[in-house]
Amino acid sequence: MTGGATDIKSLDLPGIERALAALGQPRFRVRQLVRWLYARGVAGFDEMTDLPGALRSELAERFTLGRLSLSAREVSADGTRKYLWELPDKTTVESVGIPSGDRLTVCFSTQAGCAMGCTFCATGQDGLTRSLLPGEMVDQVLGAAADMNARVSNAVAMGQGEPFANYDATLGALRFMNSPDGLEIGARHLTVSTCGLLPGIRRFSAEPEQFTLAVSLHSAVQSTRDVLMPGVARYPLDQLREALATYGVRTGRRPTLEFALVAGSNDSDSELKALIAFCRGMLCHVNLIPVNPVTGSDARRPDDARVRAFASALTSAGIECTIRTERGVDISAACGQLRQRHRA
Ligand code: SF4
Repeated sequence: MTGGATDIKSLDLPGIERALAALGQPRFRVRQLVRWLYARGVAGFDEMTDLPGALRSELAERFTLGRLSLSAREVSADGTRKYLWELPDKTTVESVGIPSGDRLTVCFSTQAGCAMGCTFCATGQDGLTRSLLPGEMVDQVLGAAADMNARVSNAVAMGQGEPFANYDATLGALRFMNSPDGLEIGARHLTVSTCGLLPGIRRFSAEPEQFTLAVSLHSAVQSTRDVLMPGVARYPLDQLREALATYGVRTGRRPTLEFALVAGSNDSDSELKALIAFCRGMLCHVNLIPVNPVTGSDARRPDDARVRAFASALTSAGIECTIRTERGVDISAACGQLRQRHRA
């Protein structure tokens, strides 16, 4: 059934268009094929019953159809579900489904592992295994939707990996998620969270869709940020600020600045002052995230009073800010923890 060499999940929409054109197929077959792959999530070409039998056979000769299989699942008392998926080559990735009222947000991974080496992150401690294919990202969202028996309202590239280190595949995946033939998630409800790869932010500013940008800032003091996030030490904060300001001007959109608060590291008054100076005069929204403890890391969360003091100082300075409510704290909540545990 699947004798080809290329996984069809490696193709973005233009790739599928080219593949079907090369087989002499009319354009409407593109939408049919995308629907089978990314709305219905079928397991094989033979299930694509509105495609002619000869086309199904040709597709099966030329392509494999890779599938994720569920390797582990944890369900939190608050309804959050964490998934560990096994890919066809046996590597594993995590995603999280977070229900909230009538909304379901899925946080998906863009890479297996990550090369960025952030010191507070379980994934960063393990290095990069490989980048994911567009379809492997969409399938994490489809898999969570099926397991939770709900429509996904929001998807966030905030799991394992740096999305802009896998830019083209990530954008390809977002477009399938956004497509009326795929998951039909509104572009503004699709978010990319980067640790600050400037070439990616600049490209993203020029994309035609209204996708949402989040940047892991974690410190507006260069020396602190270089220690917390060594993988982006080559992109200085002044250049990051300039790229974000340009993004705001070009898109009219407000990027979110993620700030994971680590006690004794980035929760001091001087850190707060630098954060306010970084944000002032720029379209942005600060999301404060008290860190979850991670096995193998000595990062500790500040007490609640300190977190509230950060939030109120930002608000007083006219900077929009929220404190992220932690979800799934009774399961392996931080990214990389489930994968780490199941390998131990
Ligand atoms: S926080 Fe994100 S970018 Fe940093 S190491 Fe972890 S997965 Fe990679």
